[in-house]
Amino acid sequence: MGPTTAVTDGREGWILKDGKAGAETGQIPGSMRAMVLRRPAPAEEKPLQLSRVPVPSPGPGEVLIHVHACGVCHTDLHTVEGELSLPRLPLVPGHEIVGTVVAVGPAAAAGAGTGAAARATEPAAAPAAPLQVGDRVGVPWLHWACGQCDYCRNGQENLCPSARFTGLQADGGYAEYCIAPVDFVVPIPERFGDLEAAPLLCAGIIGYRSLRLSGIRPGGRLGLFGFGASAHLALQVARFWGCSVYVFTRSEAHRRLALELGATWAGPADEPAGLDPGPGQGAGPAGAGPEGAGLDAAVTFAPVGSLIPAALRRLRPGGTLAVNAIHLDGLPAMPYGLLYQERVLRSVTNSTRQDAREFMQIAGQIPLRVEAAPYPLEDANQALLDMKKGRIRGAAAVLQIVARH
Ligand SMILES: [Zn+2]
Ligand SMILES: [Zn+2]
Repeated sequence: MGPTTAVTDGREGWILKDGKAGAETGQIPGSMRAMVLRRPAPAEEKPLQLSRVPVPSPGPGEVLIHVHACGVCHTDLHTVEGELSLPRLPLVPGHEIVGTVVAVGPAAAAGAGTGAAARATEPAAAPAAPLQVGDRVGVPWLHWACGQCDYCRNGQENLCPSARFTGLQADGGYAEYCIAPVDFVVPIPERFGDLEAAPLLCAGIIGYRSLRLSGIRPGGRLGLFGFGASAHLALQVARFWGCSVYVFTRSEAHRRLALELGATWAGPADEPAGLDPGPGQGAGPAGAGPEGAGLDAAVTFAPVGSLIPAALRRLRPGGTLAVNAIHLDGLPAMPYGLLYQERVLRSVTNSTRQDAREFMQIAGQIPLRVEAAPYPLEDANQALLDMKKGRIRGAAAVLQIVARH
């Protein structure tokens, strides 16, 4: 099968709308271009290789998606550089996928025990959810969760120990086609173009979960530490809720964008933010507690541990700091006074389908302004490097995928 990725099953089992097997119709090519990771390496060494690989086959309960755009997320950088342990190689990264359903797999019920060849001649199999060929959908980071474990049953499918993630266990969207389970794809509000919609699928959804877990209330004072794809969307959601938002970032361009998007203040993390002491606090430091601690809640977005004491220092008693990072360069030692007074420090891990649904609804309602910087598929290494160096124009790098056969 050539330089294949996860394509280990036959193609004969999946069916197009007209009931013909995909390979018979000529509508879907047998192979596609993909940016494939075979060996993790620093982004400077261009770890992704442009390859021609077989178009994957949707199994029972899955759809085949023609990818139009795929956002480039910090997690992809951690993946290609090997900071995350990789369950398999070769691998196609990318988990902010926007595309069109071009084929549905055989119905889940027909999946067990029936011959694939027989299914190919039967009428079109019904999809597990009302998804049609031609529907535009998004594929987020949470590719699949088991639905059976305690976490799944208690609304915490983001913590499912058997969960699979797009672009990690399953091939992702740095390719012309990908497959996804019907039950885990996300509807996309019509008002967003493909490029705009892509960053919503992870940066947006997980940013939204971070806001939720920070406990920020409407009208509250929120701090965002680090400003990229996720923060520029979270800022707008918080503004929609009537919050005052303080943005801490070194980048002059990002500070400008933050102010344009309605931040009350933007500056470096080591600068006073002009925050009044929070309610119930005297002016200035209280014992060993944080100085001028006026934020009701905060979220850190950059994978930098030193931001954590910087953020806690500005958090009022009882406030929560949510750490939106899948990987952090370590946690610095810090005085207990930064945490005392019932401040809460918590991580944010993945997201649920409920987060995705709620966020997409809000995203369309606001509507969110998405600052996407497009790159062609074959420039994925460049996009990752620009992200690493903080050189993304706008706030979110997005691969724009134009099929070439
Ligand atoms: Zn589970
Ligand atoms: Zn992501």
